[in-house]
Amino acid sequence: MTFEALGLNPSIIKALTEAGYTSPTPVQEKAIPAAISGQDLLVSSQTGSGKTAAFMLPSLHQLADLPQAPQAARTPNQERQASRARGERPRYQPAQPKMLVLTPTRELALQVTTATDKYGAYMRRVRVVSILGGMPYPKQMQLLSRNPEILVATPGRLIDHMESGKIDFSQLQILVLDEADRMLDMGFIDDIEKIVAATPATRQTMLFSATLDGVVGNMAKRITNNPLTIQI
Ligand code: AMP
Repeated sequence: MTFEALGLNPSIIKALTEAGYTSPTPVQEKAIPAAISGQDLLVSSQTGSGKTAAFMLPSLHQLADLPQAPQAARTPNQERQASRARGERPRYQPAQPKMLVLTPTRELALQVTTATDKYGAYMRRVRVVSILGGMPYPKQMQLLSRNPEILVATPGRLIDHMESGKIDFSQLQILVLDEADRMLDMGFIDDIEKIVAATPATRQTMLFSATLDGVVGNMAKRITNNPLTIQI
């Protein structure tokens, strides 16, 4: 099996070739065609199985086909200066991401962000930003003000930005829960429910977890729609 045969966009294939990936791993082979077609996924797989590419490659493929958001004529700083000159109070346009990846830890979020930059290296204007606990707020607000297409976040810090009006999920098309069982073990269930409730019901949802039973299974049932279950 090749990545071409899975139907991925040529600019993604080019990045994969450069990264030295010659063929898809088993989880990628099963997940990518279904995800490209827009189906929800419930995937039980371990770290090291290639799960990041299993959700990120089909997502980048779908984002490549979307019309681009209009670029601001001024940079956020220029806009703020002009606004101050007009005597207005500072005002922020919320970011309107198309894709959100939730991860249990900062480390995993950073790994996903780095992988996304690599896989999307030849795609025009697909920007990814990580929103993590412990990172200074002004820096994160600056990153959000660029209106990135993809956010990778830990749940607690994301809720802070959501509740202060910095993020609007009304345009979200793809939601990924990575290592969902670990997020629940860490007590993020209420945060996850709140975030999911803020996204459109029409979104595509992909949930990755070591196990798919118990509490994870119950949550998966509530937040997915006719999912394909993949056990590796
Ligand atoms: P993950 O399970 O997403 O943490 O990926 C584990 C490692 O496998 C990462 O270092 C990836 O860069 C690498 N990887 C993922 N998919 C492939 C592939 N199809 N061929 C070669 N390496 C891969």
